[in-house]
Amino acid sequence: MDLGLGIRKALAKFTGASIVDEVAVKELVKDLQRALITSDVNVKLVFELTKKIEKRALEEKKHQAVDLRSHIVKIVYDELVAVLGEAYAPNVEKKQRILLCGLFGVGKTTTIAKLARFYQKHGLKVGVIAGDIHRPAAVEQLQQLSEQVKFTVFADKKLSAKELAEKGSVALDHSDVIIFDSAGRSAFDSELANELRDINAEFKPTSTFLVVSADLGQVAGKQASEFKENANITGVIITKMDGSGKGGGALSSVAVSQSRVAFIGTGEKPDALETFSPDKFVSRLVGAPDLQELLTRVREATDENDLAKAMSTGELDYESFLAQMRSMKKMGPLKQVMQMMGVYDIPEEFIVKSEDKLKNFENIVGSMTKNERKDTKLIKNASRQERVAKGAGVKLEDVRELIKNFENASKMMKGLQGNKSLMRKMSGKMNLPKGMDISKLMQGMK
Ligand code: GDP
Ligand code: MG
Repeated sequence: MDLGLGIRKALAKFTGASIVDEVAVKELVKDLQRALITSDVNVKLVFELTKKIEKRALEEKKHQAVDLRSHIVKIVYDELVAVLGEAYAPNVEKKQRILLCGLFGVGKTTTIAKLARFYQKHGLKVGVIAGDIHRPAAVEQLQQLSEQVKFTVFADKKLSAKELAEKGSVALDHSDVIIFDSAGRSAFDSELANELRDINAEFKPTSTFLVVSADLGQVAGKQASEFKENANITGVIITKMDGSGKGGGALSSVAVSQSRVAFIGTGEKPDALETFSPDKFVSRLVGAPDLQELLTRVREATDENDLAKAMSTGELDYESFLAQMRSMKKMGPLKQVMQMMGVYDIPEEFIVKSEDKLKNFENIVGSMTKNERKDTKLIKNASRQERVAKGAGVKLEDVRELIKNFENASKMMKGLQGNKSLMRKMSGKMNLPKGMDISKLMQGMK
C-alpha cells in the first residue's frame, strides 16, 4: 500500500470516529505507525514521530475556534512536515559550479538535463562537463540531452576526470552555471573517493549534489551518510519519486542522515524536477492542498442553508438537486475531500465544473413549472423539454444533459443508501447537521 493512501486512511478513520478520546488518538497513532513502517520509513523515526504526535494530541491545548478532530489532524500534518526537513531555496545566481555525484544508474545525467532547464528558466546559461570517463556512451547521452535542453557540453574522451575539470572549467567559462557530470560506481569505494577529491581540487564546486534514487528506499539514507563523510555534499537530489511507492522511505531516511534534500526528480523528462518543499510533499501525500483549509471548507459547505433545506426534504427533486450542485461548486476540490475521508472512487465528472454550466442548469430549472420540479417524471416528456429549453434560452441537449445528470445522481443516491455503514461513517466524518447524510450530499455531485 502506498504511504499516502495509508496516511489518508488512518486520518479518515480518526476523523470518522464517533468520539475523540485517548483511545481514538492511540488508535490513530498505531495506524500511522503501520502505514509508515510498511512504506519503508525508518522505524526509529516512525516511533519518534508518532510519540510526538501522541503527546501533542493528548496534551496540547487547542485553539477555541478549532474542533478537536481538525486540531489533531493538523498536528499530524505539521509533524510529518517537520520530519522531512527544511524546504530548499535554490541558488540562482551567476557563476556557480555544481558537481553531481552518486552511484551507477541513479539518474545523475538525466538530472543534469533537468537542472540545466531549471537554471535556464532563471535566465542562466548552462555548460556541462562530461566527466563520466568510465561509461562508454556517457558523452553521447549528454550530447543527446543537450539537443533537447540547450546547454553546451565539454567532452574529451582522452582526458582524466581531473583534466576534464581543469580544461572544462576554462572552456565553459562563458557559462553562468557549470555542471560536472561525474562517474558512478556500484558502491562507494576508495577509488571513487579519490576521483571525487581530484575533481574537487580542480573544479572547486560551489555546490555538490548527491543523487540517490527513491527506489533504494532506506538505503538512500545510508548512501547519503557515506558520501557525506567523504565529499562535501551540500544537498541530496532524490530521483524516480514517480516510480516506486517507497518515496517516503528514501526521503525520510535521507532526512534522518542529516542531509538536506534539495530537489526531487519525478520523471524521465527534463521538466520533471521539483525544488524540495516538505509542505508540498506532505500535501500531496495526504491528498489535500492544506488539510486545515479543507476541513473548514467541508464544514462551510455543509452549513449552507439552502443545502440544509434541500437535505431535509428527503427525496431528490430538481430544486434540491440544483441547491446541492451550488454547494458542491463552493466546496472546491471535492474529490480530494472525499479521498481524505476514505472514499477513493469519485469520478471527476461528478462536479459541475464551470460557472456557465451551472448558470445554464439554473436557467433550465427556473423555466420548469413547480410541478415539473417536484414530480420529476413530467420533464421526460419531449414537448415539455422543448418548452423549457426555449424558456431558458438553451439548447435541447442542455436540458437532456441536466435530466441525465439528475437521473444518475438519483440512482447513485439509492445505491449509496443501501450501504448503511458507509453512510453512517461518512455522515460522522463530515459533521453534517442532523437529518443530513452523505448520500444526499452526493446527489449534487453530478
Ligand atoms: P546515471 O548513471 O546516474 O547518470 O543515471 P542516468 O541519468 O543515466 O539514469 C538512469 C535511468 O534512470 C535512465 O533510464 C533514466 O531515464 C532513469 N531516470 C532518471 N531519473 C528518473 C526519474 O526521476 N524518474 C524516472 N522514472 N526515471 C528516471
Ligand atoms: Mg550518467
